[in-house]
Amino acid sequence: MAPQETQETQETQETRETQNVTFADLHFSAEIKKAVAAQGWETPTPIQSLALPVLLGGEDVVGLAQTGSGKTAAFCIPLLERLDGRARGVQALVLAPTRELANQTAAELQKLSPEGTQKPVVLCGGMPINPQIKALRRKTTSVVVGTPGRTLDHLNRGTLKLDSVGYLVLDEADRMLDMGFAPDVGRILSYTSAERQTALFSATMPNEIRKVVDRHMRSPKWLRVEAETTTVEGVEQVYYKVDGKEKTRALRAMLDAEEEPLAIVFRRTKHGATKLHRQLEKDGYSSGLLHGGKTQSQRDKAIAAFAKGRTRVLVATNVAARGLDIPDVSHVINYDLPEDVDTYVHRIGRTARAGKEGVAATIVANDEKRDFDKIKRGLPVEVRESRLPARS
Ligand code: AMP
Repeated sequence: MAPQETQETQETQETRETQNVTFADLHFSAEIKKAVAAQGWETPTPIQSLALPVLLGGEDVVGLAQTGSGKTAAFCIPLLERLDGRARGVQALVLAPTRELANQTAAELQKLSPEGTQKPVVLCGGMPINPQIKALRRKTTSVVVGTPGRTLDHLNRGTLKLDSVGYLVLDEADRMLDMGFAPDVGRILSYTSAERQTALFSATMPNEIRKVVDRHMRSPKWLRVEAETTTVEGVEQVYYKVDGKEKTRALRAMLDAEEEPLAIVFRRTKHGATKLHRQLEKDGYSSGLLHGGKTQSQRDKAIAAFAKGRTRVLVATNVAARGLDIPDVSHVINYDLPEDVDTYVHRIGRTARAGKEGVAATIVANDEKRDFDKIKRGLPVEVRESRLPARS
């Protein structure tokens, strides 16, 4: 028990020490500071205040932080800061569970790099491999962002070399392990030098993650932001009890009560998502569809249409919506219950991005009450029961 206690004390201390850190106080280049300012970011988020000094100082970090907390920039800024323009080979690798997250991280890296000059190579499954091989051959390639399966594929083919990687990130590590990527991640790490700096971010800290940390990291600093200080803070969490057959009616009532909702509606299966999407279209709603069975280009189109507000509803499955960062999502609606607390937290993190407000609503059928109670008990905040808006 003793090490656990030490760790808790350390975390609390770290959390307290972060008050009032500004970007100006932090030691990274003026060019990257300029890029940060260009994003309109004034002060570091809590996880950034904690992680940036440690990562910039060259130490390993295990960060317990959810999406929406600003964790991406927390590991991207030190990554960019470390890059050596004269060095050859891949200097930094970010592993992410899904293509969407990998693409978003690559985009954030580019935005934060001096003059937007750093364009990481993205290695994701479901995309043609030859353009990736070509990109990896370029002498200027110094940053790779990939999903574990495809990254390992390139290593096996000999088209990717990781011996010069000095900075490695495991992003959304719990999700990567949930998706069965643990062996792939282990193999990928074995291709890198033990001298590298490693950052691991995760929304939850199951034992499997602790094992990864023990095996692959060097005396990391454990950092945690309290749930209330993440941007999930801006999410009003409610649930509606309905009869099982009444779910679609409940959803329509919710959508109709809003003037211009931008809502992600979660379903458990591809089939369920497709069915609901078709029903909504039939009922006159502008709806998009996002699930793992869609091609990358179909997914990109659905996301773009929704991000621009051309479709007001996006019916999605968990895996497809992972890591989505769309600024103005007003509602996350759990049409089907999430499987567990972790999935619930990830889903609701799709709204109230970057300090904005949002509503997370869960539609609970009579026979789902017990499962939902279990989820509620695992949450640090209260989820309020609400009544459906009256039909207008
Ligand atoms: P993430 O948790 O990395 O997915 O980031 C959540 C959102 O916060 C993204 O839309 C970022 O662009 C935004 N963000 C990151 N850092 C800051 C900051 N210091 N101030 C305001 N917004 C930020």
